[in-house]
Amino acid sequence: MFQSRTDNVAYKPEVFKGHDKMKVSVDEEVCIGCGLCEEICPEVFELTGDIAVVKIEEDIPEKLVENSREAAESCPVDAIIVEE
Ligand code: SF4
Repeated sequence: MFQSRTDNVAYKPEVFKGHDKMKVSVDEEVCIGCGLCEEICPEVFELTGDIAVVKIEEDIPEKLVENSREAAESCPVDAIIVEE
């Protein structure tokens, strides 16, 4: 029977949620220094001067992944780059 690609479990990202490695960075050219990311996840983001920086350069610890993702999704100018 025909199965579309989206029916294949390998294409469903939620199956792997929480198991992927994740890194985040801030595009300094885009960040407007609103501080929202630091408010949401101060363990990972810190406002220094006019821009946010990422305090954890290696893989984000699993317990902080959800908050990091929320911070990225909340950034008003999409300055947070998530690599998964
Ligand atoms: S939420 Fe976005 S714009 Fe605001 S400080 Fe963080 S990276 Fe910069």
